[in-house]
Amino acid sequence: MTVRRLVLFAALLGAAFAYYSLDLGRYMSLDYFKSQQAAIETWRAAQPAQAALFYFLAYVAVTGLSLPGAAAMTLAGGAIFGLLWGTVLVSFASTIGATLAFLAARFLLRDWVQQGFGERLRAINDGVAREGGFYLFTLRLVPVFPFFLINLLMGLTTIRTRTFYWVSQAGMLLGTIVYVNAGTQLAKLASLSGILSPALVGSFVLLGIFPLLAKRLTRRLRVKKVYAGWRRPPRFERNLIVIGGGSAGLVTAYIAAAVKARVTLVEKHRLGGDCLNTGCVPSKALIRSAKLLSHLRRSREFGIREARAEFDFADVMERVQDVIKAVAPHDSAERYTELGVEVIEGSAKIVSPWEVEITRSDGSVQRLTTRSIVIAAGARPLVPPIPGIEETGYLTSDTVWNLRRLPQRLVVLGGGPIGAELTQTFARLGAKVTQVEMAPRILIREDPEVSDLVTRRFRTEGVEVLVNHKAKRFVIEGGEHMLIAEFEGRDVRIPFDALLVAVGRAANLKGYGLEELGIPAGPTVEINEFLQTRFPNIYAAGDVAGPYQFTHTAAHQAWYAAVNALFDPFKKFRADYSVIPWATFVDPEAARVGLNEIEAKQRGIAYEVTLYRLDDLDRAIADGEAHGFIKVLTVPGKDRILGVTIVGEHAGDLIAEYVLAMRHGIGLNKILGTIHIYPTMAEANKYAAGAWKKAHAPQKLLQWVARFHAWRRG
Ligand SMILES: Cc1cc2nc3c(=O)[nH]c(=O)nc-3n(C[C@H](O)[C@H](O)[C@H](O)COP(=O)(O)OP(=O)(O)OC[C@H]3O[C@@H](n4cnc5c(N)ncnc54)[C@H](O)[C@@H]3O)c2cc1C
Repeated sequence: MTVRRLVLFAALLGAAFAYYSLDLGRYMSLDYFKSQQAAIETWRAAQPAQAALFYFLAYVAVTGLSLPGAAAMTLAGGAIFGLLWGTVLVSFASTIGATLAFLAARFLLRDWVQQGFGERLRAINDGVAREGGFYLFTLRLVPVFPFFLINLLMGLTTIRTRTFYWVSQAGMLLGTIVYVNAGTQLAKLASLSGILSPALVGSFVLLGIFPLLAKRLTRRLRVKKVYAGWRRPPRFERNLIVIGGGSAGLVTAYIAAAVKARVTLVEKHRLGGDCLNTGCVPSKALIRSAKLLSHLRRSREFGIREARAEFDFADVMERVQDVIKAVAPHDSAERYTELGVEVIEGSAKIVSPWEVEITRSDGSVQRLTTRSIVIAAGARPLVPPIPGIEETGYLTSDTVWNLRRLPQRLVVLGGGPIGAELTQTFARLGAKVTQVEMAPRILIREDPEVSDLVTRRFRTEGVEVLVNHKAKRFVIEGGEHMLIAEFEGRDVRIPFDALLVAVGRAANLKGYGLEELGIPAGPTVEINEFLQTRFPNIYAAGDVAGPYQFTHTAAHQAWYAAVNALFDPFKKFRADYSVIPWATFVDPEAARVGLNEIEAKQRGIAYEVTLYRLDDLDRAIADGEAHGFIKVLTVPGKDRILGVTIVGEHAGDLIAEYVLAMRHGIGLNKILGTIHIYPTMAEANKYAAGAWKKAHAPQKLLQWVARFHAWRRG
């Protein structure tokens, strides 16, 4: 606790102590006011401004210090100053006092609460950010919720002070008037409970519910407005039409069919989408061949004097196609038809909120009506408009799979996961690769030591990693392709034979009706937490919707999209992104779940770091892969996991244990108490938990245990 906090805390404690020890509460009772009413009245008549100021400050002090007596003081306000001035004084004094109490709670406790429980409070914080004003208004309107408790609890949330002030003042106004008015009849009032008859409390409850009802109604009206001008078909031919047969679309259709909905899946290119055809599957297949070559090159490390590989790049690329063919049946039209999905090869376009026009590959056009639509149109490689890029020609993750001749010198533009995976792969296959990144390091989303380790490995394998290099233009000089990049204010020339652009992926937003229907989109289709677009019956999932661009997140969203599309308004679920894992399949692999240090710092979340180095692990040593680390972020003093980063062999698999742990609230103590097979890489997870335990060993207790053993030795 800082000194300022300590001082405030001591002052508040002192005030409370004085209040109770001097029994100041007796001045705040109805009886006391009644007994002194005549004297107070005389004083007010003689010095009205002074009396008002004194009353005002006393009221602010009582409410600001969260002391009991505000209700009695309000009644006294009515008795002394009458309905109008009493209301004005009480309204401002109570709101200012409430805001002071709110600020004190915020200053003393909010950081501690948010840091300690930040992740768990995320839903509450989101709710407060979205509709905190509404909830506060409701609580304020109904005078049965303790006034001081609302102030203190609201101080712990992320609601803005300005919002708190004006919503409180508006929300308390009616109650204030009722109490002040009752105060004008003070002499006749026997007790505080007499003011609030059951009928009056009932009216307040109704008033409290009113804003929520009004909100529901407004939402309904807004939705009605969105659909205005569109004619809703009297009945629907489908429950659901899914646009796009990639990871998101396939899973959406699968779930819909599983719950017996009538669902049509439309794919204009190849079922399986990017993941199967140009993304995860081919990249991992190519990485596997490249890894074999890297092992052969390292043969001496394994006691093999010489191992050579003879290979044709074209054969390696054909194997990639074979792998795609082998996996393709999982995503095939036959499989999905068997599962109960109607699969149509063609291009889909939304023509009304309930109608999709499908242009089949044979040119025929069909219109289908549907209750709901899920957009799962995916993304494509982003190509930045760098001068000369079109003239020079380039490869992307869409086209690189068509290569059958290995480029001698390859420039990879982009230091993200896709760029990094392909950089190392092509280098291992024999190309001279230069990776160009304008940020200060590659894999910028990960902690710096992840980038360091991967960069060092890339450089050992002959990759030229150029960071802080901003591509300015492409030129052809003397028949040679050249990238001109800016580095520390000067131009650097990088010659190449082929260019691979991997600077990110842009959502597919054109050509299927978004513009025509006025569905807003920024970099991705705009959706709410239920994955609904502006039209509540049109949803979006996968790369087209973000915020992540992975196959497993596309599938995760697909569940929400399918269930919400089919069961709203009876039941719908908010997409839960609380535990999202991912891996970059460079060698060594880099995997993560939850927070890393960069994000924890950005979000002001307190954490402890436990590091376990894999060069200590028996299996990693035996495998010749004794490098990398497991870094676990936990809540200070607790074993609750906030996030894990693993760099090392099979990091993408090892992280699964932590994903499960985080998803189900399992701490490091439980991981430590779980048997892991010896000797496996997975044992590293247990050792990381052990490192945490060692750092948190109860030293005092152990000293006593040592004494106990010494005593037993005699
Ligand atoms: C090189 C590379 C490697 C990757 N590696 C991994 C990895 O290892 N792990 C991982 O999790 N993710 C990886 N990804 C990302 C992953 O491929 C995507 O996140 C995933 O494919 C997204 O699925 P989606 O269904 O949203 O989109 P897509 O797979 O792109 O599917 C969208 C489909 O919609 C179709 N479509 C679009 N418009 C229409 C229309 N109007 N009518 C009909 N059909 C339409 C498209 O033809 C496409 O087939 C990788 C991506 C790339 C490029």
